[in-house]
Amino acid sequence: MKTYAYAAMAPERPLAPFSFERRALRGNDVAIEILYCGVCHSDLHTARNDWSWTNYPVVVGHEIVGRVLQVGPDVTRHKVGDHVAVGTMVDSCQHCDQCHKGEEQLCREGNTQTFGGVDRISGEPTMGGYAKHIVVREEFVLRVPEGMDLAKAGPLLCAGATTYSPLRVWNVGPGSRVGVIGMGGLGHMAIKLAVALGASVTVLSRSASKESDATELGADHFLISSDNTAMDKAASSFDLIIDTVPTKHDLTPYLPLLDVDGTLCIVGQIGPLDEINSLPLLLGRRRVAGSAIAGIAQTQEMLDFCARKNVLPEVEMIRIDQINEAYERLERSDVRYRFVIDMATLTEPQTEAA
Ligand code: NAP
Ligand code: ZN
Repeated sequence: MKTYAYAAMAPERPLAPFSFERRALRGNDVAIEILYCGVCHSDLHTARNDWSWTNYPVVVGHEIVGRVLQVGPDVTRHKVGDHVAVGTMVDSCQHCDQCHKGEEQLCREGNTQTFGGVDRISGEPTMGGYAKHIVVREEFVLRVPEGMDLAKAGPLLCAGATTYSPLRVWNVGPGSRVGVIGMGGLGHMAIKLAVALGASVTVLSRSASKESDATELGADHFLISSDNTAMDKAASSFDLIIDTVPTKHDLTPYLPLLDVDGTLCIVGQIGPLDEINSLPLLLGRRRVAGSAIAGIAQTQEMLDFCARKNVLPEVEMIRIDQINEAYERLERSDVRYRFVIDMATLTEPQTEAA
């Protein structure tokens, strides 16, 4: 199937119109017309080759919401016309212990990412959601709950899933004390989800200007991370801290904020962090952990939970031709709190990117 998209062609070049072939439908495939796609900081990291593993050209985007156009003959879970969603994964081995547990993100053979991955059958590079269509095996296609606002659902697929998973793994519920470092796309979803689970939530931010928004989203407290007095006063007051900071940073100031047996879970920065002081870990039996995205079953659970609890991201809708400007704003943390591309603004290109 011929489709069109916006692609990154090189790290220093703006995204530009691009056409390519989606694979012909296999028996268990679903072809989706993409209606909306959220803009994750991982899209920007990939387009700019921040992680040194980008192969160009690449079409990024893994917060995909659309409508089923066509299904392969063996598909049982979805039918033409359904509203569906695709997140950060499009395949996994399906036979290891982790896949059997529904933790495909932890697949022993490595999951196949929605963009920047390699198709397990054809060997072709996978291309993401800044495109008109996508073809995905049915097991990796999520159901958008009936009545959910399609224009806002996209960011749940990555920002929502990535923050919901550690909240569930560490059993957050009424009485839990949760800290969230960084109030961006992931951070604002962590606040909303933790509040909906009944936790008391504190935002740890560099930006005083976000305090009133944090309160509106349901946070109980707001701490400026550079305010040492406030940080000292918050010592030993969290069970779980979710760290969404996208760049290399120092964890040491945050570790004393954990109570005994508390956990700081990194979901942001991938790669080296500043050296940490182990003393607060030893003295408080505190832990530093990490978490990546969520399995398919848990992602569906999160979507259904959000529908029940009326949890949706705060979004700023953009046209596809505003994507480069949106990236500049994302880099400056100037987004409240997730850009979503209205894919109706993506039209078939007249001229190709060279
Ligand atoms: P985002 O919207 O840019 O939000 C990041 C927030 O972190 C900013 O709003 C800002 O909040 C804070 N921040 C930014 N730069 C900082 C710095 N230099 N020092 C301290 N704080 C800083 O990004 P996002 O989409 O939420 O993604 C966050 C990170 O998670 C990215 O690195 C992304 O690749 C990663 N990610 C990981 C997974 C996973 O599976 N683990 C999934 C998706 C994304 P304040 O203004 O409040 O300080
Ligand atoms: Zn993402």
